[in-house]
Amino acid sequence: MAHKSLLPPAVDAYVAAHSRETAEQRALREETQAMPEARMQISPDQGAFLGLFVKAIGAKRCLEIGTFTGYSALATALALPADGKLVACDVSITWTNVAKRYFERAGVADKVDLRIGDARETLAGLVAAGESGTYDFAFVDADKSSYGTYFERCLELLRPGGVIGFDNMLWRGEVTRPSADVDTEALRALNDQVFADPRVDASLLTIGDGLLLARKR
Ligand code: CA
Repeated sequence: MAHKSLLPPAVDAYVAAHSRETAEQRALREETQAMPEARMQISPDQGAFLGLFVKAIGAKRCLEIGTFTGYSALATALALPADGKLVACDVSITWTNVAKRYFERAGVADKVDLRIGDARETLAGLVAAGESGTYDFAFVDADKSSYGTYFERCLELLRPGGVIGFDNMLWRGEVTRPSADVDTEALRALNDQVFADPRVDASLLTIGDGLLLARKR
């Protein structure tokens, strides 16, 4: 599998084979799989989880930091009600052009508000526009060194009871080993912070490469 998984390959394949996706989701996943950056795409089971979770909490307003070619955004948008909205942030026009094609094909383009640029600035802009406390769910899967900043901004933008999901929080196990790597350090710091942070309830899941859920109290 091109993506990062903590599971043995046979189990990973079994899980993928039992993860529902639409024809558009499958086509997008396969197109992205052929790209050099394919590892940045979440796995089908993560996509299924995101969609189910968005529905389970009745989310209407979502944020995404790090859209890449759109697999997670598509899973989220498909799970949103007709009047739902996803603000999707990424730095790459090339990658998000792939995403836009599939949002159109899947009939969810009107639900996705794509913002190209530094997500730290996009999120600060949403706060400045008075949107604090109005979002239900945020999915963060972008530059790891900024996860701490994304946590604070998303926490501000979420309503009480809203949830943030951070991807790659186990970093293929690197978080358990001594390392001077800046990304590993940032992920380890956020795991430690969220574990002790009284502003949130938290659960570190071993799905994908580690998914940390933090619910705003
Ligand atoms: Ca990821």
